Amino acid sequence: MSDEVRSFLDTGIYRLVRDGSKVVFLDPVRIINHSYTRFWVSPSAYYSRSFETTTAALKTDAVEDSRILKKRKRTRAPRDLNESERAAVKRHQEARTFLLNAHKAFLEAAELQALLPELVKSEVSLPTRRASEQKFIQLGSLWQAPLYEISLCFRNKNLSDDTGGYRLGDHGGTIIVHQLYNNLICNETNEDVEAEFQSNRYILPSRSCFHMSDLQQVRNLVPAHSKDGFNFIVIDPPWENGSACQKAVYPTLPNRYFLYLPVKELAHEGGALVALWMTNREKLRIFVENELFPAWGVTKFVLSYWLKVKPDGSLIGELDLFHHRPYECLLLGYINLQNDDSRAMPFEYLGINQVIVSIPGDYSRKPPLGQLLKDHIPGPKPAKCIELFARELGAGWTSWGNEPLHFQDSKYFVER
Ligand code: SAM
Repeated sequence: MSDEVRSFLDTGIYRLVRDGSKVVFLDPVRIINHSYTRFWVSPSAYYSRSFETTTAALKTDAVEDSRILKKRKRTRAPRDLNESERAAVKRHQEARTFLLNAHKAFLEAAELQALLPELVKSEVSLPTRRASEQKFIQLGSLWQAPLYEISLCFRNKNLSDDTGGYRLGDHGGTIIVHQLYNNLICNETNEDVEAEFQSNRYILPSRSCFHMSDLQQVRNLVPAHSKDGFNFIVIDPPWENGSACQKAVYPTLPNRYFLYLPVKELAHEGGALVALWMTNREKLRIFVENELFPAWGVTKFVLSYWLKVKPDGSLIGELDLFHHRPYECLLLGYINLQNDDSRAMPFEYLGINQVIVSIPGDYSRKPPLGQLLKDHIPGPKPAKCIELFARELGAGWTSWGNEPLHFQDSKYFVER
C-alpha cells in the first residue's frame, strides 16, 4: 500500500497534482468521522443516493467528447441562447479542459480507483430507519417554536454550571435542557453527546455549537468584539433556482437577501477565509462578484470546482449538459486581510484553483472543507469556524441555519 493511500485511509483526503493545478479526492465520511468520539457516520447512510453504474468508467475523453457533440446537435444551436446563457457557455468552456484533466488524473490513480466501491459500503448494518424525521423548518415557523426544548444528556455527573439551560435530576449523568430555537447551544465537552427532542435522538460532536433560527436572527451570532470573530466562514445559501427537487427539500430565498448576511461582522479581526458555494448560473456569478462579495468585504478570491463522481469513477452526468452540470463552483476569498498577516500569523495564501472530486451524499449536501483548507485559514490557531445555512455540526464548529440538526439524527450514525 502506498503512503498516499495509507494517508487517505486515515484522513479521507487524496491529493493529486496535475499541470500546476491541484486536484483532491475527498471521502466525506472519513473526514466527518474525525469529528466523533463515540459514534460513526455510516457510509451507507451518507452515500444514500444510488447512482447508475457506467460500465465503461474508464472511457476515453475522445469517446466522451463524440457523445457530447452528438448530443449538442440535438440541443439548441448557440445562436438560440440569450446573452447570459452564451456567457455561461463560454465560462463552461474555460472550465471544461481543466475539469477533464482533473477527472483524468483521478481516473489514473489506480490504487484510489480500486478503493472507491468499498468507500460507499458499510461494515456495520444500520438499525431500522424510523419513518419520521423532525421537520425543523416547519416547527420553527409555529407559534410554539420558542417553547420547544432539547435535552442534552452528558455522561459526566460533575459538569460545570456555566453551560446555560437548566438541569434535570440525577440520571447517572447530567441532563441539561435548552430552548431549541434561536439559542446558541454548545457541547463544550471533548466527547460526543446525545440529545433528545420529541423522542428523536441527535448526536452532537465535541466542542460543537449550533443556533437554529431564521435569517432574521442571524445577527445574534455576531460577536461583541471582532477579536472573537471567525477565521473560516463557509456559506451555502438557499439560492433561488427552478429545481422542483430543491423546492421539496428546503425553502429558498431571493438572492438579494444575502446582501444582509453579516459576514464582515462575523469575521475575525486577524482575517477570515470565506468559502461560498454557488450554482452554475451566470447571473448569480455576476451578482456575487459585483455586489455580494463587495458588500461582505471579500477580496482576493479564487474559483474552485467540486466535480461529482459515481462510485465507479465516472462523472454523475455529462459534463456539457447545460442545466445539469456534474460540478458546482466554490468561491474562496479573504476578509480583513492585512498585507503582513501571512508573516505575522503564517498561513498558506490560496492562490490557485483547485478541483475537489467526491461522491455526493444526500441532495445538496456539500463535502466538508475544514480539514482540506486548514492551512489557508488566517488568524490564530485553532481557527474558529462557522457554517451558515448548515444542515450538520462539526467538532469545534458553530453551525447556523433553520435545520442545523438535520444530519445529526441518530439514524445516520452507528455506535463505535
Ligand atoms: N450546506 C448544506 C449541506 O451541505 O447539507 C446545504 C445547505 S442548503 C443549500 C440551504 C439551507 O438553508 C437549507 O437547510 C435551508 O433550509 C436553509 N434555509 C432556507 N431558508 C432559510 C432561512 N430563511 N433562514 C435560515 N436558513 C434557511
